[in-house]
Order: sequence, then C-alpha cells, then structure tokens
Amino acid sequence: MASEDSGLQNQVVVLHTGYSREDGTAMRANCTCTLIRCRDGTNIVVDTMTAWDGELLRSLLSDQGLDVGDIHAVVCTHGHSDHIGCNYLFQEARMHLVGACASHRDLYMDHFGSEAEDEQLALDSNGEVVVQRTSGHTLSCVSVIVKNSQLGGTVGITGDLFERREDVDNESIWIGAGSEDEKKQRMERSKIAHLCDFIVPGHGPLFLISPEMRSKLKQDALSV
Ligand SMILES: [Zn+2]
Repeated sequence: MASEDSGLQNQVVVLHTGYSREDGTAMRANCTCTLIRCRDGTNIVVDTMTAWDGELLRSLLSDQGLDVGDIHAVVCTHGHSDHIGCNYLFQEARMHLVGACASHRDLYMDHFGSEAEDEQLALDSNGEVVVQRTSGHTLSCVSVIVKNSQLGGTVGITGDLFERREDVDNESIWIGAGSEDEKKQRMERSKIAHLCDFIVPGHGPLFLISPEMRSKLKQDALSV
C-alpha cells in the first residue's frame, strides 16, 4: 500500500487527457483520467477509460510510483463505457462509485440515498475531497470536488458536465455529446464554475475558470 502522504495539499494529477472528435460517420472518444493523491494518503482514480486501456493505465500509475493495489477508491463520473472500462484493475479499492451508485464486490452501499440534491460524500478524512451530484449529461452524473489542491485552489473533476474548455463558448459541443437534461446541466455547469477555480472536463485538458466564463455560464443557466 502507499505510504502516508504528509503533504499539506491534495495533489490532482491528470494521467490521461481525453478527447472526442468525429471520425467519418462515427466518433472517436476517450475520457480524461485523473489521479487524486489526498494529503491523508488516500489515492483515488476518477474515470478509468475504455476496457482496452488497462496496460496504459497501469503504466501511467507506475509513472507516479503507484500500483493498481495502491488505489483506495474509484469514481466514475457516470456509467458510459469510456469512463468505467478499467474499473476491474482496482480490486483492492474499498469502493467503486459509478455515478451516484457505490459498490464493493456484490455489496451496494447506501451513499447518495437521501433525496437531498446537495448530498455530499467525503472520500478523505479531511473532508476536502468530496463527491456530489451534477446531473445533466446523465441523470446519475457526479463530480469530484478537490479543495486545497496543489494548483492553488479548488478543482472540479466533472466528467462530461463539461466536454472540454471550448464548450463554454460553444454550447453545441456539450449538447452534441448528449445531455439527458439540458436545463439541469446548464444549472450544474454554472454552480460548479462558481465553486471551482479549475475544471478537469470529461474529454479535454484541465482548464482555469475565468470570471468571464463564470458570468457566461450563469447567463446561460438563467436564460433558459
Ligand atoms: Zn464521456
């Protein structure tokens, strides 16, 4: 198992930068995969790419000095195949969370069982790394919010709530990627943008949220 991390901040490491693009009449897509090294020693992987990426993910973790057995929790922002494919690697993890559904082997846990929209699940002992519902792309979508990160602020690892940075100016990007509830998604996008300094989107590189982006997203949420 990993040794205790005595750092003062939670480390957010993007292991693999996702993408999505048209390929003829089909699509090519894979997700952004992120490692969180919480300062209490808890290691979390968010979104595990496709089932064909096992060796890649092992080697990306190995570059960080970690083995698959060092991961304590797996969070998939939602249940689409490019976000859950390598969950099978992490059999030592205490929990796999797929959207708002948490399980370990054949045991399904009662997290997110309350009707409260703002229910949160802390993954670390400091309560700085929490999962919350951010529905829209799917109705069961969640995001991981990392406070006190080494980047100097709060990071939202949001899955396909944000497809990539460019979708702030061009809504057709996230809507075209599929949304089960566009109105809800607009509201959650604005909420997360106001909560976070950085976003790790579902299919692109990490980006900084500017005040202009915040007000654009707020306008979008209010205008519909
Ligand atoms: Zn996706």
